[in-house]
Amino acid sequence: MSDCLFCKIIAGEIPANVVYEDDKILVFKDIYPKAAVHLLMIPKLHIESLEKLDESHNDLIAYMMLKLPVLADEQGLSGGFRTIINTGKGGGQEVFHLHIHLLGGKNLPGF
Ligand code: 5GP
Ligand code: ZN
Repeated sequence: MSDCLFCKIIAGEIPANVVYEDDKILVFKDIYPKAAVHLLMIPKLHIESLEKLDESHNDLIAYMMLKLPVLADEQGLSGGFRTIINTGKGGGQEVFHLHIHLLGGKNLPGF
């Protein structure tokens, strides 16, 4: 997806503060952090949103879910953390490449 911001980050065309990468996912710091720790986890596969998932993505989504607490632990979030997936314009999604927000630490806003 040539016009996708997060695909450009995956391709290294736009810089990002990467904290974890493997063959399936990329995790980087949100450019406008809403808390002391605010990471974005994205699949390397371009998927627009949660609404575009199908059963072919089962393994990928399970992989991402299981990685979240590992990353939170590595970020020192022993007291807990928050995950958010905004879906569609009505859900506040601004970048249409599936991403999971991982938030925690000081300044975690109320919800
Ligand atoms: P959404 O509203 O789509 O769930 O979240 C998009 C997130 O991407 C926002 O929290 C925003 O701060 C972040 N973001 C937007 N552009 C960039 C960018 O160029 N680099 C990084 N690291 N984050 C970005
Ligand atoms: Zn993309």
